[in-house]
Amino acid sequence: MAIKQVVCTTCGETVNKARTYHIGGGKRACKTHEGVVAKRDELHAKGLEKAQKDKKRREFRKERNERLDTNMARPHCWLCGHAGLRQDVFFQRVLVEMEKARHIYGTFNPFDFSHPANKNLGGGERCILIIAKDKCPDLTRHLRPSMQSLPDLSGVYALCGECAHKHGVKDSLPKPHLEQLAAMSVIYETFMKPVVQKTAIQELAQNS
Ligand SMILES: [Zn+2]
Ligand SMILES: [Zn+2]
Repeated sequence: MAIKQVVCTTCGETVNKARTYHIGGGKRACKTHEGVVAKRDELHAKGLEKAQKDKKRREFRKERNERLDTNMARPHCWLCGHAGLRQDVFFQRVLVEMEKARHIYGTFNPFDFSHPANKNLGGGERCILIIAKDKCPDLTRHLRPSMQSLPDLSGVYALCGECAHKHGVKDSLPKPHLEQLAAMSVIYETFMKPVVQKTAIQELAQNS
């Protein structure tokens, strides 16, 4: 059997194929030319990296689909399929967890993220945000094919906080004005705080 011959794209000689390496774009060059081995190694590494990425993507899609099938009846993220709490319920949960933490740790700074009181404010739940479609980048291609018409039909995306952050959804959390915040704190002190405090104490009693 004839030994396969190729033309080296660097020196133009016809040489034994085994004496060359692929250097990208269908080109082959003699192993002896400068940079050819490095180029081959680089292509090899890129190929491995791509294969890894493809594998990860396939695994993610499989897990996402399983989560979507399981969580259909609960509020869930359309992108990753994780279930969670609706935004308003989530924030109520945060308030209750903060109140519980206050009983455990005393007063703490809610913006000190290294403080243990701030580690689990969502109570282990994700916040599911409902965000107007026109406030999001086009995320349709990330959705399971059977769900890709949902944003057009509903005009919104349902996203967990993590996916919203990951995909660069700006304004994913409402930023109230100072007056609104002041009004909110009155509402909170008057109506919500007693409920939040009661819930926190009940939950602490159940856990002890
Ligand atoms: Zn050559
Ligand atoms: Zn998500």
